[in-house]
Amino acid sequence: MAMSWAVGVLCASRRVGAPRANFPSLGRAPRPRQPACVPLAGPWPVPPVSRMATVKSELLKKLSSEKTVAHNKISIVGTGSVGMACAVSILLKGLGDELALVDASESKLKGETMDLQHGSPFVKMPNVVASKDYLVTANSSLVIITAGARQEKGETRLNLVQRNVAIFKLMISNIIQYSPHCKLIVVSNPVDILTYVAWKLSEIPPNRVIGSGCNLDTARFRFLIGQKLGIHSESCHGWVLGEHGDSSVPVWSGVNIAGVPLKDLNSDIGTQKDPEQWKSVHQDVIASAYEIIKMKGYTNWAIGLSVADLAESILKNLRRVHPVSTIIKGLYGVNKEVFLSVPCILGENGITDLIKIKLTLDEEARLKKSAETLWEIQKNLKF
Ligand code: NAD
Repeated sequence: MAMSWAVGVLCASRRVGAPRANFPSLGRAPRPRQPACVPLAGPWPVPPVSRMATVKSELLKKLSSEKTVAHNKISIVGTGSVGMACAVSILLKGLGDELALVDASESKLKGETMDLQHGSPFVKMPNVVASKDYLVTANSSLVIITAGARQEKGETRLNLVQRNVAIFKLMISNIIQYSPHCKLIVVSNPVDILTYVAWKLSEIPPNRVIGSGCNLDTARFRFLIGQKLGIHSESCHGWVLGEHGDSSVPVWSGVNIAGVPLKDLNSDIGTQKDPEQWKSVHQDVIASAYEIIKMKGYTNWAIGLSVADLAESILKNLRRVHPVSTIIKGLYGVNKEVFLSVPCILGENGITDLIKIKLTLDEEARLKKSAETLWEIQKNLKF
């Protein structure tokens, strides 16, 4: 029974409008203890036609032969440290009825998938499927992209982005072919530029292309403020906006606890003049990614949890506000097609509205500068 289940999930399911996908090597050359892929009617294997009594036929009386259709399917492209942290966070929240994984590396994909599947008794999502073939993602409501090329020694940012454009071309066309109505969350770095690339290549409306952007930076900001005050980060309200990473903008004017603006208590907060040097909180936000990478080689848990939070707003149509990367042409004096983080309402249609947050002149100038820097790279990209 356990092995049948493993075959069912490894090979993916044949469903209405979703052709069967499998691991090519598993399907073609089954090893001794691995049964070959069989056509499946749903997440669970269909027993072979036989008059012989089996444990299954003795145990179960079939009442319905309706095919299962996933209504809230989530796919993750890239099963590296970030993709798998997203997967675990999503599984633990029980957000959908099917999770599909895609990666270019077959052995990694298989290993990660089997490992996740063995945790099935402890999560509330019935089906984990995986393949190198994007067929496995068919009919997804949400596709999360964490795959991409890594920066090589001495490589320019433009060159890295151009290499990622080539990867994204194939990836995005496959995703959209099998899930034309999906929402996309782009996590791969440089996230703001790659969200623009995904939007350009997908040709879907911008409300459905979301960059994880400053969602993580904002989480780090709230955590560090909480540490300073001895208050849980959820009760620390504040936003980091603009470009994800080094040039992100902390909006000190909006930082508050229970509606009490910290700026009312310290008018110099966030500036050089501030005797308490709250500015260092944002400096630590920027430094923390480098620090973690120095210590463990990558960051993954916080980004995974933060992406699952975005997924929850979308899949449950919660209309919560998140700092995510979206096209901001026409706002804050930006007149180019660039994606930067601003507070956005997320629901079943992706980003339904932006919150027109009031920035100080300095904050607005920093946002505009980020937009110009991004455009300098984007304008030279070849699609
Ligand atoms: P990783 O190298 O561990 O994983 C990347 C995975 O992508 C690998 O498993 C690789 O096989 C796969 N891959 C590469 N090319 C592929 C292709 N063409 N098709 C399918 N799969 C492919 O990297 P990671 O640590 O998981 O990080 C993933 C990305 O997330 C990086 O770009 C990283 O910078 C980014 N990231 C973003 C944030 C954020 O806040 N936006 C935070 C952390 C990491």
